[in-house]
Amino acid sequence: MATTALDLATVRNIGIMAHIDAGKTTTTERILFYTGVNYKLGEVHDGAATMDWMKEEQSRGITITSAATTTHWDDHTINIIDTPGHVDFTIEVERALRVLDGAVAVFDAKEGVEPQSEQVWRQADRYGVPRICFINKMDKVGAEFQRCVDMMSDRLDTTPMPIQLPIGAESDFKGVIDLVRMRAYVWNDEAAKGEMYDTIDIPESHLDAAREGHDKLVETLAEADDEIMELYLEGEEPTVEQIVPAIRRATIAGTAIPVLCGTAFKNKGVQPLLDAITAYLPSPLDISAVIGHGVKEETQETTLSRKPSEEEPMSALVFKVMSDPHLGKLTYLRVYSGVIQTGTQVYNSVKGRKERIGKIYRMHSNKREEIDRVGAGDIVGVMGLKDTTTGETLCDASDPIVLESMSFPAPVIQVA
Ligand code: GDP
Repeated sequence: MATTALDLATVRNIGIMAHIDAGKTTTTERILFYTGVNYKLGEVHDGAATMDWMKEEQSRGITITSAATTTHWDDHTINIIDTPGHVDFTIEVERALRVLDGAVAVFDAKEGVEPQSEQVWRQADRYGVPRICFINKMDKVGAEFQRCVDMMSDRLDTTPMPIQLPIGAESDFKGVIDLVRMRAYVWNDEAAKGEMYDTIDIPESHLDAAREGHDKLVETLAEADDEIMELYLEGEEPTVEQIVPAIRRATIAGTAIPVLCGTAFKNKGVQPLLDAITAYLPSPLDISAVIGHGVKEETQETTLSRKPSEEEPMSALVFKVMSDPHLGKLTYLRVYSGVIQTGTQVYNSVKGRKERIGKIYRMHSNKREEIDRVGAGDIVGVMGLKDTTTGETLCDASDPIVLESMSFPAPVIQVA
């Protein structure tokens, strides 16, 4: 049973958000596939069939049944929080957004920014969720990368910053140019099996576009980041080692948003997307502190804060209570500070009640892993809570806090 603390700098708590049909589900599934999980379709349904990723029809109808799924990529732990469906946009989505540190916004390369993408974007704005964009369906007839990027600047009040350029589009979508490293990734025949691309020099035919794209990236970054601006003003060309952290700073500050592209259902572009998730989206350490207030009458007006550290008093927010087919009632929570251990008593500061933590689970897409402790920054499912519901805070009884309550000013959005 896992007992060690996670290195918080390597944790990514992310959501994947999209307009219906843009490819949120497909992208999530492909991420789980590429992160090396032997993802079993049957586990939840009949305990048998391993998913055959080559057959598109078989992949339909699968949903990630867990409110948070943990996976690993390149020495990082990625918790993918299910940001629920496009249609019931309201409280459920807001609750999920509340516990994310970052998100991937998926767009349809042909449709670009659709009305619903705008709504999701504004919700994420409200919670200050740092984002990277993935323009999916580059294989579709009518797919246009630049048009999508233009729509983002026009409709989303944001500064999109392409860090890739597609090589071709529609049935001729052959790969992407990495504008940071100035290399070309060309999809190979093994893509469906897991080897995604060959890295080659940028083809002569695309060199001018690539140079222009790189210059534009540096220019956008200079506007978004002081360090790059200084180099820019001195006429110095920033190195990859300077560009990567600058993109990360800009992403976290929201001053510019990295844009990538691919074709999720053909497994193209998913690996570079994973690399971007670990390189650019924030870790729990990038949140300086979570804010709350006291519980007693005399402290209700007092603002309290908890840093993302195991040394702090424990605080956690429940974001989903679910009925798991195997485990029964499973309460998903994000720990913001301190540590929770199996069997310990915690205090529900909203209800003013003590609760006991039963088993603690990390949910993977194909298995659940019982662990005996969970620390600041992490997301797990726990059993044993009798009287705690979504949105409530669990904390140390000796140091009570009510984490900032979520407000739901958003009107109910009707989707036709
Ligand atoms: P969601 O509603 O955002 O979760 O979207 P889905 O992942 O369910 O995808 C919606 C539809 O688009 C499905 O029929 C997918 O097979 C299809 N789709 C997903 N990714 C791609 C892609 O890269 N290219 C094309 N042409 N279709 C895709």
